[in-house]
Amino acid sequence: MASPTQLAALLASVRSMIDSDPRLAEHCDKDELSRYLAAYAEYPDPVVSASAALKGTLKFRKQLPAEHDAVPCPDCRADPLSHSMRIIGLDCHARPVVYTNFVHSANRSNTSAIVEHIRSIMESSLRLIRREERKTNLNARVSEASQKVNPPADSIPVSVHGALVVGRDVSDRGQVVWIFDFDGFQPSDCNPELVHDVFQLTTLYPERLGLAVLLNTPYSFSKLWAIVNPLLRETTVSKIRFINTAALRSPEIQTQLGDAVIRWVEEEMMENGDVLTRSKKCFWEWRYTRKELGDEQPEAEADLSSGDEELFPKLGSLKNHDPRGIRSYVYHTEYELPVDRVFVESYEWEKDGKGKPRSR
Ligand SMILES: [Zn+2]
Repeated sequence: MASPTQLAALLASVRSMIDSDPRLAEHCDKDELSRYLAAYAEYPDPVVSASAALKGTLKFRKQLPAEHDAVPCPDCRADPLSHSMRIIGLDCHARPVVYTNFVHSANRSNTSAIVEHIRSIMESSLRLIRREERKTNLNARVSEASQKVNPPADSIPVSVHGALVVGRDVSDRGQVVWIFDFDGFQPSDCNPELVHDVFQLTTLYPERLGLAVLLNTPYSFSKLWAIVNPLLRETTVSKIRFINTAALRSPEIQTQLGDAVIRWVEEEMMENGDVLTRSKKCFWEWRYTRKELGDEQPEAEADLSSGDEELFPKLGSLKNHDPRGIRSYVYHTEYELPVDRVFVESYEWEKDGKGKPRSR
């Protein structure tokens, strides 16, 4: 764990950069400095190495526009089926969960666009993490104030940051979980150039990986893994799990992700396997669309509570499984759909009042 002296030295080394751009300050808090020092702990001089890496990240952040674009990359702006890679919610440790598959990623040849998409997802994850931190800090302040007014008999200490060991512990709320569903993976997806560029990108986000779940990897992936594995740090490898769908329900994965996320992944995979909708699935739609059902389908009746709709989905009626993500995430007021509005048919139904959200 980083010592106070190391933290102070690292902060001092980037002080002038922070002073010249106050936006950078939120990326140099104690937890973030600890992550950099943890990532370079095995180097001869961790502070010097961490400082060089942090300066590189801050330089990169200075170039980022203040306003973010919810659509992750240029390819997805043109065609939302380019990359199926999105945040689908928070796990039971309040860590953002990213789900990606190959079958709904139509454009897998443009390496720079994929890297841009991953970078954008990481930035969205960090915004989400900061939102949760603000909420935790607010709750802690409210709790502290109420205890001052009316102190409890047995005082319970309030955890503000939630992180026990930054970057190394499951309770580090600054981490991100990645679920790689290998459905649709092809041998041509073994792209060493992409691996190299993603490695470069990860230097901007040290110790941010909480867990990587690789679901149903085919034999053809083993050749790429043989190249990648020796390049990874031991800490990173310890966070990677190769499992099949059934093992999502293993005690370890349950403890890490929680039931809501696991149930969503199971339902998503089951839906992706449906031969009728497999090639037509719009993973950003929460209502049945023309593309999925066909133009000749009748429109939804005003009464959407009819039990028949689950057996015979109608145009504009709510889907049983929401492919955008888990409910607590997509119905949050700050949720942003990572697809340009022009591609989203579901909005039409809510705008016209034809489809009213059903209470669940
Ligand atoms: Zn994209």
